[in-house]
Amino acid sequence: MKDIYFDNAASTPVDPRVTEAMHDCLCAESYGNPAAGIHGHGAAAGKLIEQASVQVAGLINGMPQGVIWTSGATESDNLAILGVARFRGEMQGKHIVTSITEHSAVLEPCRQLQSEGFDITYLHPDSEGRISPESVKNALRENTILVSLMHVNNEIGVIQDIAAVGQVCRDSDTLFHVDAAQSAGRLALDVVAQNIDLLSLSAHKMYGPKGIGVLYLNPQRINRLQPLMHGGGHQHGLRPGTLPTHQIVGMGMACEIAQAAVDSESGGIERLRETLWSEIATLPGLIRNSANADTVCGILSVSVAEVEGESLIHALRGLSVSSGSACNTASDDASYVLRALGRHDSLAESTIRFSLGRYTTAKEVAEAAAVFRNAVTELRCYVSRMDEVIEHAV
Ligand SMILES: *Cc1c(COP(=O)(O)O)cnc(C)c1O
Repeated sequence: MKDIYFDNAASTPVDPRVTEAMHDCLCAESYGNPAAGIHGHGAAAGKLIEQASVQVAGLINGMPQGVIWTSGATESDNLAILGVARFRGEMQGKHIVTSITEHSAVLEPCRQLQSEGFDITYLHPDSEGRISPESVKNALRENTILVSLMHVNNEIGVIQDIAAVGQVCRDSDTLFHVDAAQSAGRLALDVVAQNIDLLSLSAHKMYGPKGIGVLYLNPQRINRLQPLMHGGGHQHGLRPGTLPTHQIVGMGMACEIAQAAVDSESGGIERLRETLWSEIATLPGLIRNSANADTVCGILSVSVAEVEGESLIHALRGLSVSSGSACNTASDDASYVLRALGRHDSLAESTIRFSLGRYTTAKEVAEAAAVFRNAVTELRCYVSRMDEVIEHAV
């Protein structure tokens, strides 16, 4: 049997319309180096990239000239945080505000900056995973140069009130960076209305190809950063390197589709998610994480009491999901996000993230619910049988 895919928050399938656009690009006479606009082949590639910048800008209500192409949201987050800090730190201050539940692509550059003499405030969420705009406001200091907050958390799906935080930042004239890797195409993004100065996007989280992303810089608020790499001066020297035309065309198409998807498909995905929850919630001992907060349409995070995390993941074979420990692929530690919500280690480790997407069907939801119910029930039976055995032996 084919595995059922419930891991769209880790990566999405590529939309066939994106594949087609990329294929056309690779086959067309646009193989020139986009930096070589002096001749027709280069100019053709340059045109395609310009068009893709318009598509990205359309999704976020930004300006095409603010689009910087990167390799993905990890690089975008690093460029935003390290780039602002190293460019402005000496002159304007060495304090940054973020939260303990950010993606490691934000936390790790912040740790790096601490070793370079920066002071980082890590805000704590409430028990649902929300960071209050007041806590951001209270954390701001004279020497704060940047606030970095994700729009949607990748593990629990909780939505942060970025418009309110954006207002706090603008009122104090502090730059505001948002990691929108999980929200693009699912929630409305508007860098103007939400007062966002820097925004990270990743194509493979929105039905585009892996290996391409964007850091958007609001041209009215910021135009210089310390680059991470040094080379041929591409993209105003902010991120040098020959632009991958076909990847960029793919991301552009993914953004154009995503813009329509916010309204057209989020409701259906949310309904499927609620069906999934109602079909598994008949089991005792389940905790739905962020149950009392707004969450993005596709993510359902469930902590399962009285089963062991690793056994649960094994029992769910056939179902592609994430666990509360595997999210931080490099380590076996219990998720720091779930611990921040107050879940103790064993409950964090027996947490399953289902993430639904554009191609999830009602049939798959029913199958996944059945697999999950059977797995949990069997594991608990096994545990109670073992308890009996042990009792008799004693
Ligand atoms: C996936 C993800 C990233 C990393 O994106 P890549 O394009 O895979 O490097 C960063 N932040 C969040 C919130 C993510 O979900």
